[in-house]
Amino acid sequence: MRALVKATAAPGLELRDEPAPELGPSDVLIRVRKTAICGTDVHIWNWDEWSAKTVPVPLVTGHEFCGEIAAIGGSVTKLTVGQRVSGEGHITCGRCRNCRAGRGHLCRNTLGVGVQRPGAFADYLSLPEANVVPIPDDIPDEVAAIFDPFGNSVHTALSFDMVGEDVLVTGAGPIGIMGAMVARRAGARKVVITDINEDRLALARSMGIEHAVNPSRTTLREVMAEIGMSEGFDVGLEMSGAAPAVRDMIEAMNNGGKIALLGIAPVEFAIDWNKVIFKMLTIKGIYGREIFETWYKMIGLVQGGLDLTPLITHRLPVADFREGFELMRAGTCGKVVLDWS
Ligand code: NAD
Ligand code: ZN
Repeated sequence: MRALVKATAAPGLELRDEPAPELGPSDVLIRVRKTAICGTDVHIWNWDEWSAKTVPVPLVTGHEFCGEIAAIGGSVTKLTVGQRVSGEGHITCGRCRNCRAGRGHLCRNTLGVGVQRPGAFADYLSLPEANVVPIPDDIPDEVAAIFDPFGNSVHTALSFDMVGEDVLVTGAGPIGIMGAMVARRAGARKVVITDINEDRLALARSMGIEHAVNPSRTTLREVMAEIGMSEGFDVGLEMSGAAPAVRDMIEAMNNGGKIALLGIAPVEFAIDWNKVIFKMLTIKGIYGREIFETWYKMIGLVQGGLDLTPLITHRLPVADFREGFELMRAGTCGKVVLDWS
């Protein structure tokens, strides 16, 4: 089968011929139709410090996908060949305290598809039955292929009550934009999104987020005055991983504000903790999805009318994967979807 492989401990990926993955008794073999490129895949492409210590080489990469069940293991009971599916890319251990308590998203032994075990950038992906999620007919393949990052946004945005609240989203990458869209749908009053990349701000505006601002040109104080906010933001969704954005956010929060941190910083950085203390802020770290609860919410949000399609700015055959990664590296795109048909 074709697969995009991290073949050596160096930058880049290779499209090459690989044996199909093994199918265990509780596994499902998925014929991949569409995949999307994640920021994590770009880290793996670049072979940065994090990838070098996390990713075993060689490895088939990728974890954002949609496909169709091609075969099932002997003990699989709930799924059948031909079903259209996506799936949860975090494989949890099932034996740690949190797993046993039904809180799989807090598993201490999580393995990532395409990060620590063979991934979805391939003609076939093998996934445990429990991780597979059937996709309803009214959700297109390409939308299901971006459910993994959409789930990051949904998990983050639904971490705190949004109804009537003023929400600040820092970082208008695909995840930030989807987070802002979910905040609006969940009943927020004002939603402001920031980015230092004008292409990304334009994409956010085209997705219906009207207050999309560049903090290097306009301060958040100025924006707040303009849109009639006098006190501060009630909820913050940090989706950039950039230290200045985190600092801007802490500064712009109202007392008692709540912050969900999803963005991953490339290096550790300092913040003014006294502001967190005197403002009595709540800060929550977010990793992945709240597994299947988030998948239910995602499917529900899309079926309820949330349209993610315009976020997919590029559709390429898999042979053009290099172009897709270049776009992602430049940040001149929304989601980039690779077609495996
Ligand atoms: P992305 O890189 O496409 O988006 C981040 C955006 O932040 C970029 O558009 C960038 O221009 C912007 N930015 C940089 N400096 C800024 C500043 N000072 N103020 C405002 N914006 C600024 O990434 P993405 O795919 O949308 O993911 C968002 C973040 O979430 C990334 O940091 C990613 O690594 C992280 N992530 C975390 C998880 C998790 O489970 N915690 C999962 C997926 C992604
Ligand atoms: Zn566990």
